[in-house]
Amino acid sequence: MGFSEYVKKVLHWNEELKDLLESENVGRNEEIWGKLDNLTEILEGIENPETMSEEELIGLQFQVEHLHEEMEKYFRQRQHAGGMIHSTPFTEPGRHQLPPLPYSYDALEPYISGEIMRLHHTKHHQSYVDGLNKAEQELAKARQTGDFSLIKHWSRELAFHGSGHYLHTIFWNNLSPAGGGAPSGHLAREMNKYFGSFDSFKRQFSEAAKSVEGVGWALLVWSPRSRHLEILQTEKHQVMTQWDTIPLLVLDVWEHAYYLQYKHDRGKYVENWWNIVNWRNVSERFQIAEQLKWRPF
Ligand code: MN
Repeated sequence: MGFSEYVKKVLHWNEELKDLLESENVGRNEEIWGKLDNLTEILEGIENPETMSEEELIGLQFQVEHLHEEMEKYFRQRQHAGGMIHSTPFTEPGRHQLPPLPYSYDALEPYISGEIMRLHHTKHHQSYVDGLNKAEQELAKARQTGDFSLIKHWSRELAFHGSGHYLHTIFWNNLSPAGGGAPSGHLAREMNKYFGSFDSFKRQFSEAAKSVEGVGWALLVWSPRSRHLEILQTEKHQVMTQWDTIPLLVLDVWEHAYYLQYKHDRGKYVENWWNIVNWRNVSERFQIAEQLKWRPF
């Protein structure tokens, strides 16, 4: 591996660590941020890696190793204090919690009033959390008793409240009193690549948001399939998905998928379908999807 390659790899790793800190809501005032920024500065200061002296390279490697240790130490401590993802490996049915806001209710003024923030968080978001917990518990009960007579109702509730809870959790953390401006780094490059520029992204996103019919959201999403960003609208987030989840196994029950052969008997099609499920593929999707870890709420 050439020096340039090494420096590029370290830069990329550094970006990943920052993303991790952000996704774990590690406050900007934590010492670990300073250490990451310090390394970024050193890396960006290297004009031509190929002309680096051996001494400089060893110094850089030392920095990287030191940072690696620091990160491990930091996350071990947090895990100890119960603040890390590993202390809650998964959210049991009915155990979702209202996430704390990462700032005070009036912190986003004058852009969003404290009154709105308080209502939005303590009333609206809380009711999504409660509704999601209820739906998950009722469906767990149905699995135990085998009584699925209310499956449509509880699936709807699961979608409506689940999307509400997950989207609001993203929304709060998407905002900050120190926000505004434009993104930098990798995200900025992806925006330029796909939308042409930050301004043209911003225009499309604003238009999407303004023209959502009735209630809904505008969303900037990443497609792991196409590997590009995209802007979507959702009208009524409950129909019938949980945003912020990744499909692993899907069954097409549109009529075109079975009617020629099964006519109206969708049930027969569904029963037979189990004979051809490729579990190796589903497991593979699961393995990859599982690597994406947001902090549970
Ligand atoms: Mn809302």
